[in-house]
Amino acid sequence: MDDCIFCKIASGAIPSKKVYEDDQLIAFHDIAPQAPVHVLVVPKKHIPGVNELAAEDVALVGHVYLVIQQLVRELNIDESGYRVVVNSGKDGSQSVPHLHFHVLGGRSLAWPPG
Ligand code: AMP
Repeated sequence: MDDCIFCKIASGAIPSKKVYEDDQLIAFHDIAPQAPVHVLVVPKKHIPGVNELAAEDVALVGHVYLVIQQLVRELNIDESGYRVVVNSGKDGSQSVPHLHFHVLGGRSLAWPPG
């Protein structure tokens, strides 16, 4: 999508601190990290959010989690623990309408979230 910031990052039009890329996904450090490790895993396909996921995206979402499994090992938070978050809509505080998975770690994360 032309005016989508994460589509622009996925295409390379906007730079990012990339930690992973393949044909389906890109992962990069969040510009405003909320924890010592805060990476976003972003499908290259423009899907606005969880509400718009379709049956054809099942394998993509599974792939996201296998890539997260690899990334948390590389980022050294697999043993200490981490949180995978998908904010959705207004009450979920989603600010970028392109599906993305926050991976947060490197400190103890409070529960419940605010
Ligand atoms: P959300 O509020 O769940 O939609 O998450 C969007 C996330 O994207 C926020 O944590 C932002 O800090 C992050 N973000 C926005 N623009 C950029 C950017 N250019 N590079 C990296 N992260 C970004």
